[in-house]
Amino acid sequence: MPDVLVAGAGPTGLLTAFELERAGLDVLVLERDAVPTTQSKALGLQPRSVELLADRGLLTAIEPHVQAKLPAGHFSGVPIGYSDLSTRFPYQLGVEQVHVAAAIEARLRTPVLRGAAVTAVTQDDDGVTVTAGGREHRAGWLVAADGGHSTVRTLLGAAFPGRPARVSLVVADLTLAAKPAGLAEDWQLPSQGSGYLLPLSGGRYRTVVFGEEQQRLGRDEPVTAGELQRALTAAHGPGVVVGEVLWASRFGDASRQLERYRHGRVLFAGDAAHIHLPVGGQGLNLGLQDAANLGWKLAATIRGTAPSGLLDTYHGERHPVAARVLVSTRAQAVLGVPDPDAAAVREVVMGLLAVPEARRAVAMEISGLGLTYPGVAERATDVPAAPDGRAVLVGAALPPGWADRVETRAGAGPRLVRPDGYVVWAGGPGLEEALLRWLGTGRPVVGATGSAS
Ligand SMILES: Cc1cc2nc3c(=O)[nH]c(=O)nc-3n(C[C@H](O)[C@H](O)[C@H](O)COP(=O)(O)OP(=O)(O)OC[C@H]3O[C@@H](n4cnc5c(N)ncnc54)[C@H](O)[C@@H]3O)c2cc1C
Repeated sequence: MPDVLVAGAGPTGLLTAFELERAGLDVLVLERDAVPTTQSKALGLQPRSVELLADRGLLTAIEPHVQAKLPAGHFSGVPIGYSDLSTRFPYQLGVEQVHVAAAIEARLRTPVLRGAAVTAVTQDDDGVTVTAGGREHRAGWLVAADGGHSTVRTLLGAAFPGRPARVSLVVADLTLAAKPAGLAEDWQLPSQGSGYLLPLSGGRYRTVVFGEEQQRLGRDEPVTAGELQRALTAAHGPGVVVGEVLWASRFGDASRQLERYRHGRVLFAGDAAHIHLPVGGQGLNLGLQDAANLGWKLAATIRGTAPSGLLDTYHGERHPVAARVLVSTRAQAVLGVPDPDAAAVREVVMGLLAVPEARRAVAMEISGLGLTYPGVAERATDVPAAPDGRAVLVGAALPPGWADRVETRAGAGPRLVRPDGYVVWAGGPGLEEALLRWLGTGRPVVGATGSAS
């Protein structure tokens, strides 16, 4: 019996499984789709995600697929420069999401079980029973990373407050039989308008359209080449001719977040826990950081060494971060509304973003680099994660009894770094307190399940 079941082999589920496996646990990922998807929703990795993947040795396999290093992110289409941010990776990587997922999946010990859609979940004091692909699976815990339409969320009746979609959009990858004049052939930041065309590899282009026709059509209406042709002609004129539509999907700007990320022995992560308009490119970043935050806490809880309440700091730390992204994406969507008053607000905001301090504050937020948690200092930019998911103590002597949970390294600037890369002690008194607070006493508590449900 695995220690943990993970529902969903998207980037969030896969990284959660990776984190748990490197901490020595047995994990089984249950994925609905029979074969890995070839379609990428996200096309960008924010700097904090790049750091996290690099620290885990996962970036090397992604690098051959990187199509661009963009020295900026954007806020509602306004470029936000990253070049002065303190990171080894002051840029967004332009890379299709499938390559990120494939790089993580290739490093899992236990292969993903595909064609295994979760259809039922029950839990008791000792574990969870999950029906997937018509078979029952049992484990101590379930991580629900089954995406924005999460079945697990529905099965548990978990409150998912927010607002429904007001705008309908279509994302499509297609070839062009004729290109509009002046079409940029390099990878650029997506413009704000409907019908931008971004060159992918192999002669494919990515577009997102959200004109009047998309607002009229129902969510289940198939996307046709004719619909895309009309939208692209409206954006670029008669010179553009759609060739083959390779993939198309409708999506909306619904903005919702789970009230609680933990429901007993079920923990939610990624799009299963929060949905928003993908403007600014923050969804994938959020999911990967959820996984990095949850993995080591759940592993310590299962080993029985976690300090009291550690697992509940997952909700405590990650819920506010996604709540802030929901605020940011809603604000960015308003700035893009084709209305004179929204245009006026946009003009004011663009003026503010020209002020270096304001631009930097927004850059830190969108890049994920500015993230800190209550009672935790900022991330350690130069301390790669330990391969086995232990915390890392740099430049200080480790008191006896912690070596199973802390790797020690020589180096200047004493720091204790959590397994997810955040500094919880930076010299002076308080090392033992920090060890106790984040890593527990090291005396396994039989049957420990963390505190809340
Ligand atoms: C058009 C578009 C563009 C985007 N662009 C960006 C961007 O540039 N940058 C960015 O950061 N984010 C972007 N995003 C958001 C990003 O793609 C998501 O946030 C990201 O995919 C979330 O990953 P996830 O693993 O949580 O969920 P998903 O990627 O949705 O993965 C969920 C997985 O669960 C599986 N599943 C579903 N139901 C079940 C079930 N019942 N049982 C088992 N498995 C199940 C699915 O098949 C899937 O494999 C974009 C989103 C869209 C729609």
